[in-house]
Amino acid sequence: MLDWLIIGAGVHGLHVAARLRRRGFALRLLDPHPRPLAEWDRRAEALAMTHLRSPLDQDLDVGELSLHHFSHAQPRLEPGVFAGPCRAPSLDLFRRHVEWIRARLGLDALLERGTATGLELVDRGVRVDSDRGSLVARRVILAVGPPQTCVPAWAVPIGGAALHVFDPEFDRSLPTSSAVVVGGGLSAVQLALHWARARPGATTLICRRPPPIAELDAASRWARPRCPWRFASIPLAGRLAMLDAETRRGSVPPRVAARLTRAQRRGSLRIVIGEIADGRRDAAELLVTLGDHSTLRCRRLALATGFAPNFERVPLLDTVTEELGLERGPLALPVLDERLRWHPRIHVVGSAARLSLGPLAANIAGARLAALRLDGLAAP
Ligand SMILES: Cc1cc2nc3c(=O)[nH]c(=O)nc-3n(C[C@H](O)[C@H](O)[C@H](O)COP(=O)(O)OP(=O)(O)OC[C@H]3O[C@@H](n4cnc5c(N)ncnc54)[C@H](O)[C@@H]3O)c2cc1C
Repeated sequence: MLDWLIIGAGVHGLHVAARLRRRGFALRLLDPHPRPLAEWDRRAEALAMTHLRSPLDQDLDVGELSLHHFSHAQPRLEPGVFAGPCRAPSLDLFRRHVEWIRARLGLDALLERGTATGLELVDRGVRVDSDRGSLVARRVILAVGPPQTCVPAWAVPIGGAALHVFDPEFDRSLPTSSAVVVGGGLSAVQLALHWARARPGATTLICRRPPPIAELDAASRWARPRCPWRFASIPLAGRLAMLDAETRRGSVPPRVAARLTRAQRRGSLRIVIGEIADGRRDAAELLVTLGDHSTLRCRRLALATGFAPNFERVPLLDTVTEELGLERGPLALPVLDERLRWHPRIHVVGSAARLSLGPLAANIAGARLAALRLDGLAAP
């Protein structure tokens, strides 16, 4: 029997695996992809992301400031490798660091390919069934990532012609003529700037409001253990209100906001503030109607409308809830104890642990907070 089975080899699964590995536990990571962080890479590539948003001191290694030291140990760093006042690392540097952690701790050898379909309590452990067989562990960590992408109702009938940028079927080629990006946050802005660079003047960004400007997704105090500990002690409804107030939803860092303004001034990117009321195919084009009845035609349209705010219809969580009768709170989020236990043998990390870890739960900072909280890993 394994000591731990981690379901999901994304940012959260990988960081927790690194910590457990260092402590000598017998563990495996279960994920359908052939390597860890495959989803992260796919999303970053879809946006042509160059830098992370989070600071240099937030990385996936076990110790503190590992990425900082790793960058110093590089024989040569490309110009512009760090961005902004918090020195957000380039995606390339971050990836090289992750590869180094994986090799150093032998994490790839822990990966079992498969999608978990159900959990069953067995004698002193949990059996996890997947599409490729079963594994038994004393304890399981659900690190399954964000819920499904958010697709507005008007886009559903258009189907493949209006896909979410994080949809596996999304066409990553650059548009060859008029294009529209829908969405107001960092992903939408990054994609719109990428497309505008390739075809200046042919891309329009449609957003409800000008993106608010903020360096990080939430105040940096949320990355330190004390603030989330206090947060977890207040009643659930209060936590939800606090999450709402403290999350800088749809915000972009000042350096990206400046690029957006420059692109708009130069005329390479058009920004339309409004709410889309309808969208439909019209021969080879898409016709988008805004709330003020104005219309816009384009050949390509991408949704960068984020992830669903709630965890309803996340198949594995639904199965576990049903089979083990576990509690779900507001937004269908699992209700966890102070050690992120949903059940004495089942832990939850990542954005699904938001009600325990606060607004940075989904981020690298959240992965580090989660690892500290997990039973048996907590600081003495
Ligand atoms: C474009 C983008 C940029 C971001 N930039 C930053 C940043 O700079 N800094 C920061 O801190 N945060 C950033 N974030 C936020 C956060 O770090 C990422 O969203 C991160 O990918 C979340 O990691 P995760 O492990 O929760 O989810 P994921 O990366 O989605 O990984 C979850 C894994 O679980 C697997 N899985 C799901 N269900 C099952 C199942 N039933 N069985 C087996 N495996 C399963 C999936 O295949 C996947 O591999 C960014 C997010 C995005 C989208």
